[in-house]
Amino acid sequence: MTNFGIFKNVIPFVKPYKWLVVCTLVLTLVGSVTAQVNAVVLNWSVDEINKLVQAGKGMLEGKTILITITVILLGKELLSALISFGQRFFGEKLRIYISQDLAQNIIEKMLTYRLAFFSRNGNEPGKLQTRIDRGVSSMTRMIQIFFIDILPLFSSAILALILMFKQNVYVGLTALFIVPIYFIITYFQAKKLKGWRENLRYSREAKNHGIMNILESINVIKSFNREQIEGQKQLKLQHDITDNQLVTRKTAYYFDALKSFVEQIGVVLIIILTAYFVLGGVMTIGAIMYHIMLFNNVSAPIRQLHRIYDELNDALIYSEGYFEIMNSDSEKEPSGTYKPEKVLGKFELQGVDFTYPNGTKALFGVNMTIEPSTITALVGLSGAGKSTVVNLLDKFYMPDCGRILLDGVDLRDWDTQYLRDNIGLVLQKNHIFDGTIAENIRYGNEKATDEEVEEATKKAYIYDQVMNLPKKFETKATELSGGQQQRVAIARMFIKNPPIIFLDEPTASLDAIATEQIKNSIDAIKKDRTVIIISHSLSQIIDSETIYSMEHGKVMEHGTHEECYSMNGVYRRIFDASARSLNIEKIAKTME
Ligand code: ADP
Repeated sequence: MTNFGIFKNVIPFVKPYKWLVVCTLVLTLVGSVTAQVNAVVLNWSVDEINKLVQAGKGMLEGKTILITITVILLGKELLSALISFGQRFFGEKLRIYISQDLAQNIIEKMLTYRLAFFSRNGNEPGKLQTRIDRGVSSMTRMIQIFFIDILPLFSSAILALILMFKQNVYVGLTALFIVPIYFIITYFQAKKLKGWRENLRYSREAKNHGIMNILESINVIKSFNREQIEGQKQLKLQHDITDNQLVTRKTAYYFDALKSFVEQIGVVLIIILTAYFVLGGVMTIGAIMYHIMLFNNVSAPIRQLHRIYDELNDALIYSEGYFEIMNSDSEKEPSGTYKPEKVLGKFELQGVDFTYPNGTKALFGVNMTIEPSTITALVGLSGAGKSTVVNLLDKFYMPDCGRILLDGVDLRDWDTQYLRDNIGLVLQKNHIFDGTIAENIRYGNEKATDEEVEEATKKAYIYDQVMNLPKKFETKATELSGGQQQRVAIARMFIKNPPIIFLDEPTASLDAIATEQIKNSIDAIKKDRTVIIISHSLSQIIDSETIYSMEHGKVMEHGTHEECYSMNGVYRRIFDASARSLNIEKIAKTME
C-alpha cells in the first residue's frame, strides 16, 4: 500500500471529526505565527537598544523598550501555552476517537466474515490480533505525529523560511540549502537502521515468546531437568538483542552527530552571512540574532525527521495488514432470503466435494439423505470428514461442487442467520464464555426467564450440582469442570430449542459418570428433532436410526446398524474394534 493508499483509507475515519481537525489546524497556524515572535522582538529590540547606546542614552530612555518587550514576550508565552494546550488536546482527542473507531470498526467488520476467512493460512487468531493491534496503534500514532509533531513544526519552519527570504534572499537560500542535506542524511540513516530495527523487533518477539514458553511448560522443563538448557536458549536470544541494540545505537549516534554537525554549519554560515550583510550596511545588527532564531525554527522539524520517518514506515507496514482485514468484503458471510415458517430438517447432500481454504480436500462426492425427526450417526476414523459434513450443513463453508438442500431448498438460498437459529450445535469441547452460568445458558436465548434457565439445567442434568455451588447460577462458568461445562452447553441448547441438532462427539472428553448423564440429556433432546450425531460411543451409534460410515472424505456405507454391519466394511471394522476395546466378555461376566 502506498502513502496515498493509506491516506485514502484513513480519511473516512477522520471525517466524523472534521471540526476537531479544523480547530487543530487553526490553532497550529496561530501557533506557527507566535513561534516567530521571539525572533521578531529580538530583531527589533537589539536594533532599538543599539540605537540608544550609540546615541549615548541609557536606562531612562530605554524603559519603554523594556516594558514593550516584557509585555509582548509574556503575552506571547501566555498565548503559546494556551495554543499549545488546545492544539495538543484537540490533536490527542482526535487520536483517541479515531483509535476507538479503528478498533471497533474492524471487530464489527470481522464478525460479519464467514468461517473460511478465519481458517485461512495466516489468519490464525494470534496473527489476526497482532495485525489489528499493530495496525490500530501505528495508525493512531501516525495521526498523532501528523497533528502534534509534523504540522506545528513544519508550518513554523515554512513561516520562518518565508521570513528569512523576505529579509534577504541569500540568507533564505542558505537556510534552504541545509534542508535537503538533512533529508539525505536522514534517508541514509533510516535505510541503514531499517534492517536492524526489524531484527530487533523479531528478536524481542522471540524473547517474549520464549518466556511464555518457559512459563507454560515449567512442569515439563522441571520433570526433564532442562532448566539449564532453557536458560541457555534465552541467553542466546539476549545476546542477539544486546548485539543488535549496540549496533543500532552506534549507527544512530553516528548519524545524529553528522546531522548536528550539518546543522551547526548552517548556523555558522548564517552568522557569517548576516555579519557580512550587517558590515556591508545591508542589514541592521538585530538581523544576526533574528536569522539565527529563525534558522532554529527551520531546523527543529528536520531534527525530528528520522523519528517521523520511522513511525510513518511502521504505519505503512502495519496499516496494510489492518486494511487487508478491513477491506475483505468478499469474506462477508453469504446469505439468501429463504425463511420458511417451519423448518422440518431434511438434509440432502448431492455429489458434494469440499476443500478447506488451506487446500486440504476433505470431502469427495458425498451423497447423503438425512430424514427429518430421526437420528443419524456419522461414523468413521478421525479425519474421515465427519465434522466437515456438519460444518457444511451449518453453512460455515460452501461446497466446491454439488448441492446441499434443506427441505428441498439449496442452503445458499437460506437466510443464514435464520438457518442457524434453527440449528443447535454441541461440540466435543464447547466454548464457555467468561461469565456466569446463567449468562452462558442465556447465550442460547437472551429473553429466557429464570424459570426457563432452571428448567434447561434440569433437562441437562446439572441443576442439582449448580444449586450446590455457593453462588449457584451466579458462579463463573469457567470455574466448572469439563463435564459440567459440557452440560451447561447442552442446557444452552435446550434454551435455544432448535428443530435440528448436531452433536459432534459431545462426550469424547468426559468421564464415565458424566458421559452417562449427558447421554440422558441427549436422549431428552432427541425427541421430535432431526439429530446428527458424530460419536465413537457404541451405545450412541446403536441408538441411531441411520448410520453413515465415512473414510477419507467418502461415504462408504449407509443404512441401519444391522445393514451397515452386514456389509463387512469400514463400519464393521470400527464397530468390532470398539467392542473389543471394551472387553465386553469380561464386562459381561462382572455384570452377571
Ligand atoms: P473427522 O471429523 O472425521 O475427524 P474432519 O472433518 O475434522 O474429520 O477432517 C477431515 C479432514 O479435513 C482432515 O484431513 C482434517 O485435517 C481437515 N480439516 C479439518 N478441519 C480443517 C480446517 N479448519 N482447515 C483445514 N483442514 C481441516
